[in-house]
Amino acid sequence: MDMTIEGKAYINGSFEPCCIGVDQGKISSIKKILKGDVHLNFGRKLILPAGVDIHVHFRDPGFTHKEDFLTGSKAAAFGGITCVFDMPNTKPQTTTVRTILEKISIAKKKSFVDFGVYAAIADNNITYINEMSKHCSGFKIFLGSTTNSLHLSKQKLRDAIHAASQTNKIMLVHAENEECLKKHGGTEQNLKDHLMRRPSECEEQAIKDVLDASRNVSSRIHVCHLSSCEGFELLRKKPKNISVGATPHHLFFDIDSIKSKQSLYKVNPPIRSHFDRERLWYGITNGFIDVLESDHAPHTLDEKSIDFNTSPSGIPGVETMYPLFLAKVKQRHISFAQLISLLCERPAELMNLPKGKIEVGRDADFIIIDYKETTAVKSENLHSKCGWTPFEGMPAIFPSDVFLRGRRIIEECQLASNSGIGNNVASGVQ
Ligand SMILES: [Zn+2]
Repeated sequence: MDMTIEGKAYINGSFEPCCIGVDQGKISSIKKILKGDVHLNFGRKLILPAGVDIHVHFRDPGFTHKEDFLTGSKAAAFGGITCVFDMPNTKPQTTTVRTILEKISIAKKKSFVDFGVYAAIADNNITYINEMSKHCSGFKIFLGSTTNSLHLSKQKLRDAIHAASQTNKIMLVHAENEECLKKHGGTEQNLKDHLMRRPSECEEQAIKDVLDASRNVSSRIHVCHLSSCEGFELLRKKPKNISVGATPHHLFFDIDSIKSKQSLYKVNPPIRSHFDRERLWYGITNGFIDVLESDHAPHTLDEKSIDFNTSPSGIPGVETMYPLFLAKVKQRHISFAQLISLLCERPAELMNLPKGKIEVGRDADFIIIDYKETTAVKSENLHSKCGWTPFEGMPAIFPSDVFLRGRRIIEECQLASNSGIGNNVASGVQ
Protein backbone atom coordinates (compact mmCIF):
# COMPACT_ATOMS: atom_id res chain seq x y z
CA MET A 1 0.00 0.00 0.00
CA ASP A 2 1.45 3.38 -1.01
CA MET A 3 0.05 5.30 1.91
CA THR A 4 -2.32 5.04 4.86
CA ILE A 5 -4.12 7.92 6.52
CA GLU A 6 -5.45 7.62 10.04
CA GLY A 7 -8.06 9.84 11.66
CA LYS A 8 -11.78 10.30 12.17
CA ALA A 9 -13.17 9.92 8.66
CA TYR A 10 -16.63 10.71 7.33
CA ILE A 11 -17.79 7.36 5.93
CA ASN A 12 -21.38 6.42 5.05
CA GLY A 13 -22.85 9.35 6.94
CA SER A 14 -20.91 9.20 10.20
CA PHE A 15 -17.45 9.69 11.64
CA GLU A 16 -15.35 6.62 12.41
CA PRO A 17 -11.79 6.39 13.68
CA CYS A 18 -10.11 4.39 10.91
CA CYS A 19 -7.23 4.00 8.48
CA ILE A 20 -7.66 4.69 4.79
CA GLY A 21 -5.33 2.85 2.43
CA VAL A 22 -4.32 4.55 -0.81
CA ASP A 23 -2.87 2.83 -3.89
CA GLN A 24 -2.12 4.62 -7.15
CA GLY A 25 -4.30 7.55 -6.20
CA LYS A 26 -7.36 5.46 -5.31
CA ILE A 27 -8.83 4.43 -1.98
CA SER A 28 -7.93 0.73 -1.79
CA SER A 29 -8.99 -0.19 1.73
CA ILE A 30 -10.73 1.22 4.81
CA LYS A 31 -10.02 -0.64 8.06
CA LYS A 32 -9.51 -0.05 11.78
CA ILE A 33 -5.78 -0.72 11.44
CA LEU A 34 -3.69 -0.56 8.26
CA LYS A 35 0.02 -0.16 7.59
CA GLY A 36 1.38 1.51 4.47
CA ASP A 37 4.77 2.62 3.09
CA VAL A 38 3.86 6.01 4.46
CA HIS A 39 1.53 6.32 7.47
CA LEU A 40 0.01 9.68 8.37
CA ASN A 41 -1.81 9.95 11.66
CA PHE A 42 -4.12 12.95 11.98
CA GLY A 43 -5.26 12.00 15.45
CA ARG A 44 -8.41 13.83 16.51
CA LYS A 45 -8.67 15.80 13.25
CA LEU A 46 -11.49 15.03 10.82
CA ILE A 47 -11.02 13.53 7.36
CA LEU A 48 -13.70 14.62 4.88
CA PRO A 49 -14.11 14.09 1.16
CA ALA A 50 -12.69 17.02 -0.82
CA GLY A 51 -15.17 19.29 -2.58
CA VAL A 52 -16.09 19.49 -6.26
CA ASP A 53 -16.97 22.96 -7.60
CA ILE A 54 -18.98 22.70 -10.83
CA HIS A 55 -18.95 26.47 -11.45
CA VAL A 56 -15.79 28.60 -11.61
CA HIS A 57 -14.53 31.35 -13.92
CA PHE A 58 -10.72 31.14 -13.91
CA ARG A 59 -10.50 33.81 -16.66
CA ASP A 60 -7.81 31.95 -18.60
CA PRO A 61 -7.21 32.67 -21.46
CA GLY A 62 -7.89 36.34 -22.01
CA PHE A 63 -8.46 37.94 -18.62
CA THR A 64 -5.43 36.68 -16.75
CA HIS A 65 -4.98 39.99 -14.94
CA LYS A 66 -8.06 38.96 -12.90
CA GLU A 67 -7.17 35.28 -12.39
CA ASP A 68 -5.49 32.44 -14.24
CA PHE A 69 -5.62 28.67 -13.95
CA LEU A 70 -2.60 28.66 -11.64
CA THR A 71 -3.94 31.13 -9.08
CA GLY A 72 -7.55 29.99 -9.39
CA SER A 73 -6.69 26.32 -8.87
CA LYS A 74 -4.33 27.22 -6.01
CA ALA A 75 -7.21 29.04 -4.33
CA ALA A 76 -9.42 25.98 -4.92
CA ALA A 77 -6.80 23.68 -3.35
CA PHE A 78 -6.43 25.86 -0.23
CA GLY A 79 -10.22 25.85 0.06
CA GLY A 80 -10.48 22.05 -0.01
CA ILE A 81 -11.76 21.80 -3.60
CA THR A 82 -9.92 19.20 -5.70
CA CYS A 83 -11.94 19.41 -8.90
CA VAL A 84 -13.28 22.46 -10.71
CA PHE A 85 -15.30 23.02 -13.87
CA ASP A 86 -14.44 26.16 -15.78
CA MET A 87 -16.97 28.39 -17.53
CA PRO A 88 -16.62 29.40 -21.19
CA ASN A 89 -16.83 33.22 -21.04
CA THR A 90 -13.08 33.62 -21.42
CA LYS A 91 -11.33 35.33 -24.36
CA PRO A 92 -11.57 33.71 -26.82
CA GLN A 93 -14.86 32.25 -25.64
CA THR A 94 -14.89 28.48 -25.44
CA THR A 95 -17.26 27.81 -28.35
CA THR A 96 -15.26 25.58 -30.69
CA VAL A 97 -13.23 22.37 -30.47
CA ARG A 98 -10.07 24.44 -30.94
CA THR A 99 -10.79 26.81 -28.05
CA ILE A 100 -11.79 23.89 -25.78
CA LEU A 101 -8.50 22.12 -26.54
CA GLU A 102 -6.53 25.34 -25.98
CA LYS A 103 -8.10 25.82 -22.56
CA ILE A 104 -7.48 22.19 -21.62
CA SER A 105 -3.80 22.56 -22.51
CA ILE A 106 -3.54 25.75 -20.40
CA ALA A 107 -5.19 24.02 -17.43
CA LYS A 108 -2.98 20.94 -17.79
CA LYS A 109 0.13 23.11 -17.53
CA LYS A 110 -1.08 25.26 -14.64
CA SER A 111 -3.65 23.48 -12.51
CA PHE A 112 -3.11 22.26 -8.95
CA VAL A 113 -6.44 20.38 -9.02
CA ASP A 114 -8.42 18.21 -11.44
CA PHE A 115 -10.60 20.10 -13.84
CA GLY A 116 -13.16 20.05 -16.64
CA VAL A 117 -14.00 22.62 -19.27
CA TYR A 118 -17.45 23.71 -20.45
CA ALA A 119 -18.30 24.79 -23.99
CA ALA A 120 -20.73 27.66 -24.50
CA ILE A 121 -23.67 27.15 -26.80
CA ALA A 122 -24.78 30.22 -28.68
CA ASP A 123 -27.09 30.67 -31.66
CA ASN A 124 -24.28 30.04 -34.14
CA ASN A 125 -22.63 26.83 -32.89
CA ILE A 126 -25.50 24.45 -32.15
CA THR A 127 -24.50 22.26 -35.11
CA TYR A 128 -21.10 21.63 -33.50
CA ILE A 129 -22.47 20.32 -30.19
CA ASN A 130 -21.74 16.70 -30.96
CA GLU A 131 -18.16 17.44 -32.04
CA MET A 132 -17.51 19.62 -28.97
CA SER A 133 -19.01 16.99 -26.64
CA LYS A 134 -16.01 14.73 -27.39
CA HIS A 135 -13.73 17.21 -25.62
CA CYS A 136 -15.70 19.21 -23.05
CA SER A 137 -17.20 18.20 -19.69
CA GLY A 138 -20.53 19.85 -20.41
CA PHE A 139 -22.26 22.83 -21.98
CA LYS A 140 -23.19 26.25 -20.67
CA ILE A 141 -25.96 28.42 -21.98
CA PHE A 142 -26.58 32.03 -21.01
CA LEU A 143 -30.26 32.86 -21.53
CA GLY A 144 -29.65 36.44 -20.44
CA SER A 145 -26.68 38.73 -20.95
CA THR A 146 -24.11 38.93 -18.19
CA THR A 147 -20.46 39.98 -17.99
CA ASN A 148 -18.69 38.98 -21.24
CA SER A 149 -21.18 36.23 -21.96
CA LEU A 150 -22.60 34.82 -25.14
CA HIS A 151 -26.30 34.71 -25.32
CA LEU A 152 -28.53 31.93 -26.62
CA SER A 153 -31.87 33.20 -27.88
CA LYS A 154 -35.06 31.69 -26.54
CA GLN A 155 -36.04 30.56 -30.03
CA LYS A 156 -32.93 28.34 -30.21
CA LEU A 157 -33.24 26.93 -26.70
CA ARG A 158 -35.19 23.83 -27.70
CA ASP A 159 -32.75 23.03 -30.54
CA ALA A 160 -29.78 23.43 -28.19
CA ILE A 161 -31.30 21.23 -25.48
CA HIS A 162 -32.22 18.54 -27.99
CA ALA A 163 -28.79 18.58 -29.62
CA ALA A 164 -27.09 18.36 -26.21
CA SER A 165 -29.38 15.49 -25.20
CA GLN A 166 -27.85 13.42 -28.01
CA THR A 167 -24.53 13.60 -26.16
CA ASN A 168 -23.82 12.25 -22.68
CA LYS A 169 -22.86 15.69 -21.34
CA ILE A 170 -24.66 17.87 -18.83
CA MET A 171 -26.02 21.29 -19.81
CA LEU A 172 -25.80 24.18 -17.35
CA VAL A 173 -28.10 27.18 -17.64
CA HIS A 174 -27.72 30.79 -16.53
CA ALA A 175 -31.43 31.41 -16.06
CA GLU A 176 -32.32 35.05 -16.62
CA ASN A 177 -34.67 35.83 -19.52
CA GLU A 178 -33.15 38.34 -21.96
CA GLU A 179 -36.42 40.07 -22.99
CA CYS A 180 -37.27 40.54 -19.32
CA LEU A 181 -33.83 42.02 -18.60
CA LYS A 182 -34.21 44.40 -21.57
CA LYS A 183 -37.65 45.48 -20.37
CA HIS A 184 -36.19 46.49 -16.99
CA GLY A 185 -32.89 47.88 -18.33
CA GLY A 186 -31.36 51.23 -17.33
CA THR A 187 -28.52 52.74 -15.38
CA GLU A 188 -27.76 51.71 -11.82
CA GLN A 189 -26.23 53.47 -8.84
CA ASN A 190 -26.50 50.79 -6.19
CA LEU A 191 -27.54 47.21 -5.42
CA LYS A 192 -31.24 48.11 -5.14
CA ASP A 193 -31.12 49.52 -8.69
CA HIS A 194 -29.28 46.40 -9.88
CA LEU A 195 -31.99 44.24 -8.35
CA MET A 196 -34.69 46.32 -10.06
CA ARG A 197 -32.90 45.86 -13.41
CA ARG A 198 -32.83 42.08 -12.92
CA PRO A 199 -35.99 41.22 -10.95
CA SER A 200 -37.04 37.71 -9.88
CA GLU A 201 -39.54 37.52 -12.73
CA CYS A 202 -36.61 37.33 -15.19
CA GLU A 203 -35.27 34.23 -13.40
CA GLU A 204 -38.78 32.80 -13.15
CA GLN A 205 -39.39 33.30 -16.88
CA ALA A 206 -36.07 31.72 -17.87
CA ILE A 207 -36.65 28.66 -15.67
CA LYS A 208 -40.13 28.30 -17.20
CA ASP A 209 -38.54 28.45 -20.66
CA VAL A 210 -36.05 25.72 -19.70
CA LEU A 211 -38.76 23.47 -18.21
CA ASP A 212 -40.89 23.94 -21.35
CA ALA A 213 -38.05 23.35 -23.79
CA SER A 214 -36.78 20.27 -21.96
CA ARG A 215 -40.10 18.44 -21.75
CA ASN A 216 -39.63 14.83 -22.96
CA VAL A 217 -35.85 15.21 -22.74
CA SER A 218 -34.07 12.93 -20.30
CA SER A 219 -30.56 14.39 -20.53
CA ARG A 220 -29.12 16.19 -17.52
CA ILE A 221 -29.83 19.91 -17.17
CA HIS A 222 -28.50 22.02 -14.31
CA VAL A 223 -29.99 25.38 -13.34
CA CYS A 224 -27.10 27.44 -11.95
CA HIS A 225 -27.20 29.82 -9.00
CA LEU A 226 -30.89 29.83 -8.05
CA SER A 227 -31.62 33.16 -6.38
CA SER A 228 -35.38 33.76 -5.99
CA CYS A 229 -38.47 32.43 -4.20
CA GLU A 230 -40.27 32.34 -7.55
CA GLY A 231 -37.55 30.22 -9.16
CA PHE A 232 -37.53 27.98 -6.11
CA GLU A 233 -41.27 27.30 -6.40
CA LEU A 234 -40.92 26.32 -10.06
CA LEU A 235 -38.14 23.86 -9.25
CA ARG A 236 -39.62 22.43 -6.07
CA LYS A 237 -41.06 19.50 -8.05
CA LYS A 238 -38.50 19.36 -10.81
CA PRO A 239 -38.11 16.29 -13.03
CA LYS A 240 -35.32 13.87 -12.03
CA ASN A 241 -32.96 14.92 -14.82
CA ILE A 242 -32.95 18.54 -13.68
CA SER A 243 -30.65 19.70 -10.89
CA VAL A 244 -30.22 23.09 -9.27
CA GLY A 245 -27.37 24.91 -7.55
CA ALA A 246 -27.03 27.77 -5.07
CA THR A 247 -24.04 30.01 -4.39
CA PRO A 248 -22.45 31.10 -1.10
CA HIS A 249 -23.09 34.78 -1.88
CA HIS A 250 -26.85 34.29 -2.35
CA LEU A 251 -26.95 32.40 0.95
CA PHE A 252 -24.71 34.75 2.98
CA PHE A 253 -25.97 38.14 1.78
CA ASP A 254 -29.23 39.93 1.11
CA ILE A 255 -29.94 43.40 -0.18
CA ASP A 256 -30.36 44.83 3.33
CA SER A 257 -27.23 43.22 4.78
CA ILE A 258 -24.81 45.17 2.55
CA LYS A 259 -24.33 48.77 3.59
CA SER A 260 -21.00 49.81 2.03
CA LYS A 261 -18.81 49.05 -1.01
CA GLN A 262 -21.92 47.96 -2.87
CA SER A 263 -20.25 47.43 -6.25
CA LEU A 264 -18.19 44.58 -4.74
CA TYR A 265 -21.46 42.66 -4.35
CA LYS A 266 -22.73 43.35 -7.86
CA VAL A 267 -23.36 39.93 -9.36
CA ASN A 268 -25.76 38.17 -11.74
CA PRO A 269 -28.29 37.00 -10.78
CA PRO A 270 -28.35 39.77 -8.18
CA ILE A 271 -28.29 39.57 -4.40
CA ARG A 272 -32.01 39.67 -3.52
CA SER A 273 -34.24 40.13 -0.46
CA HIS A 274 -33.95 38.30 2.84
CA PHE A 275 -37.11 36.35 1.85
CA ASP A 276 -35.28 34.96 -1.17
CA ARG A 277 -32.21 34.21 0.95
CA GLU A 278 -34.33 32.41 3.57
CA ARG A 279 -35.96 30.35 0.83
CA LEU A 280 -32.56 29.23 -0.44
CA TRP A 281 -31.54 28.16 3.09
CA TYR A 282 -34.82 26.23 3.32
CA GLY A 283 -33.94 24.65 -0.03
CA ILE A 284 -30.48 23.52 1.00
CA THR A 285 -31.50 22.21 4.41
CA ASN A 286 -34.51 20.33 3.03
CA GLY A 287 -32.93 18.66 0.04
CA PHE A 288 -34.50 20.76 -2.75
CA ILE A 289 -31.17 22.18 -3.88
CA ASP A 290 -28.66 19.69 -5.25
CA VAL A 291 -25.32 21.45 -5.07
CA LEU A 292 -23.42 24.42 -3.76
CA GLU A 293 -21.42 26.08 -6.54
CA SER A 294 -19.10 29.03 -5.91
CA ASP A 295 -19.63 30.85 -9.25
CA HIS A 296 -16.11 32.12 -8.48
CA ALA A 297 -15.97 35.15 -10.80
CA PRO A 298 -13.04 37.39 -9.83
CA HIS A 299 -12.44 40.95 -10.98
CA THR A 300 -9.67 43.21 -9.70
CA LEU A 301 -10.44 45.61 -6.89
CA ASP A 302 -9.77 48.52 -9.29
CA GLU A 303 -12.34 47.18 -11.75
CA LYS A 304 -14.88 46.67 -8.97
CA SER A 305 -14.22 50.08 -7.41
CA ILE A 306 -15.13 52.30 -10.34
CA ASP A 307 -18.65 53.70 -10.35
CA PHE A 308 -21.42 51.20 -9.72
CA ASN A 309 -22.94 51.35 -13.18
CA THR A 310 -19.74 50.39 -15.04
CA SER A 311 -18.39 48.00 -12.42
CA PRO A 312 -18.44 44.40 -13.76
CA SER A 313 -20.63 41.72 -12.15
CA GLY A 314 -18.99 38.84 -10.31
CA ILE A 315 -17.76 37.73 -6.89
CA PRO A 316 -14.80 35.46 -5.98
CA GLY A 317 -15.53 32.45 -3.76
CA VAL A 318 -13.87 29.14 -4.66
CA GLU A 319 -11.47 29.21 -1.69
CA THR A 320 -14.00 30.27 0.95
CA MET A 321 -17.03 28.12 0.04
CA TYR A 322 -16.20 24.86 1.86
CA PRO A 323 -14.63 26.67 4.90
CA LEU A 324 -17.60 29.06 5.31
CA PHE A 325 -20.12 26.22 5.24
CA LEU A 326 -18.04 24.12 7.66
CA ALA A 327 -18.43 27.01 10.08
CA LYS A 328 -22.19 26.88 9.38
CA VAL A 329 -22.12 23.18 10.30
CA LYS A 330 -20.48 24.13 13.57
CA GLN A 331 -23.19 26.75 14.16
CA ARG A 332 -25.74 23.99 13.43
CA HIS A 333 -27.31 25.82 10.48
CA ILE A 334 -26.70 22.76 8.33
CA SER A 335 -25.62 19.18 9.04
CA PHE A 336 -22.41 17.46 7.94
CA ALA A 337 -24.52 15.05 5.87
CA GLN A 338 -26.24 17.94 4.06
CA LEU A 339 -22.99 19.78 3.43
CA ILE A 340 -21.07 16.75 2.13
CA SER A 341 -23.98 15.93 -0.16
CA LEU A 342 -24.08 19.51 -1.52
CA LEU A 343 -20.32 20.00 -1.94
CA CYS A 344 -18.97 16.52 -2.63
CA GLU A 345 -21.43 13.69 -3.34
CA ARG A 346 -24.01 15.33 -5.63
CA PRO A 347 -21.54 17.38 -7.70
CA ALA A 348 -19.45 14.22 -8.26
CA GLU A 349 -22.59 12.34 -9.24
CA LEU A 350 -23.73 15.07 -11.66
CA MET A 351 -20.33 15.12 -13.35
CA ASN A 352 -19.86 11.31 -13.32
CA LEU A 353 -16.72 11.53 -11.21
CA PRO A 354 -15.19 8.81 -9.01
CA LYS A 355 -14.84 11.45 -6.27
CA GLY A 356 -16.99 12.97 -3.51
CA LYS A 357 -17.06 10.00 -1.08
CA ILE A 358 -14.59 8.15 1.11
CA GLU A 359 -15.24 4.73 -0.39
CA VAL A 360 -13.05 1.94 -1.78
CA GLY A 361 -12.41 2.45 -5.50
CA ARG A 362 -12.87 6.22 -5.48
CA ASP A 363 -10.15 8.86 -5.91
CA ALA A 364 -8.21 9.52 -2.70
CA ASP A 365 -9.34 13.17 -2.49
CA PHE A 366 -9.57 14.28 1.14
CA ILE A 367 -9.39 17.32 3.32
CA ILE A 368 -8.23 17.35 6.92
CA ILE A 369 -9.84 19.82 9.31
CA ASP A 370 -9.48 20.75 12.93
CA TYR A 371 -13.17 21.22 13.74
CA LYS A 372 -12.29 23.15 16.88
CA GLU A 373 -10.39 25.81 14.99
CA THR A 374 -12.56 28.55 13.49
CA THR A 375 -10.76 31.50 11.90
CA ALA A 376 -11.96 34.72 10.28
CA VAL A 377 -11.71 34.99 6.49
CA LYS A 378 -8.98 37.50 5.59
CA SER A 379 -8.26 38.54 2.02
CA GLU A 380 -4.50 38.63 2.68
CA ASN A 381 -4.59 34.90 3.48
CA LEU A 382 -6.38 33.96 0.25
CA HIS A 383 -4.81 32.95 -3.06
CA SER A 384 -7.02 34.30 -5.85
CA LYS A 385 -5.20 36.84 -8.00
CA CYS A 386 -8.02 39.35 -7.44
CA GLY A 387 -6.85 39.92 -3.85
CA TRP A 388 -10.20 40.59 -2.16
CA THR A 389 -13.19 38.72 -0.77
CA PRO A 390 -16.77 39.75 -0.02
CA PHE A 391 -16.69 37.34 2.95
CA GLU A 392 -14.04 39.32 4.86
CA GLY A 393 -14.18 38.66 8.62
CA MET A 394 -16.71 35.82 8.44
CA PRO A 395 -16.05 32.65 10.47
CA ALA A 396 -14.58 29.75 8.50
CA ILE A 397 -12.82 26.42 9.00
CA PHE A 398 -10.03 26.03 6.45
CA PRO A 399 -8.45 22.62 5.81
CA SER A 400 -4.93 22.10 7.15
CA ASP A 401 -4.18 19.40 4.60
CA VAL A 402 -5.60 18.53 1.20
CA PHE A 403 -5.07 15.36 -0.83
CA LEU A 404 -5.64 14.99 -4.56
CA ARG A 405 -5.57 11.36 -5.76
CA GLY A 406 -3.40 10.50 -2.77
CA ARG A 407 -0.97 13.37 -3.33
CA ARG A 408 -0.71 15.81 -0.43
CA ILE A 409 -1.10 19.14 -2.22
CA ILE A 410 -1.57 21.23 0.94
CA GLU A 411 0.49 20.25 3.97
CA GLU A 412 -0.09 21.99 7.30
CA CYS A 413 -1.61 25.00 5.52
CA GLN A 414 1.31 25.31 3.07
CA LEU A 415 1.37 24.54 -0.63
CA ALA A 416 3.14 21.19 -1.04
CA SER A 417 2.90 20.55 -4.76
CA ASN A 418 3.97 21.89 -8.12
CA SER A 419 1.38 23.13 -10.57
CA GLY A 420 0.45 21.07 -13.62
CA ILE A 421 -0.75 18.00 -11.72
CA GLY A 422 -4.46 18.36 -12.44
CA ASN A 423 -6.14 15.86 -14.77
CA ASN A 424 -8.85 16.67 -17.25
CA VAL A 425 -11.77 14.63 -15.93
CA ALA A 426 -14.05 14.84 -18.99
CA SER A 427 -15.19 11.26 -19.57
CA GLY A 428 -13.65 9.59 -22.58
CA VAL A 429 -11.09 12.39 -23.00
CA GLN A 430 -7.37 12.36 -22.31
ZN1 LIG B 1 -20.94 31.92 -13.46
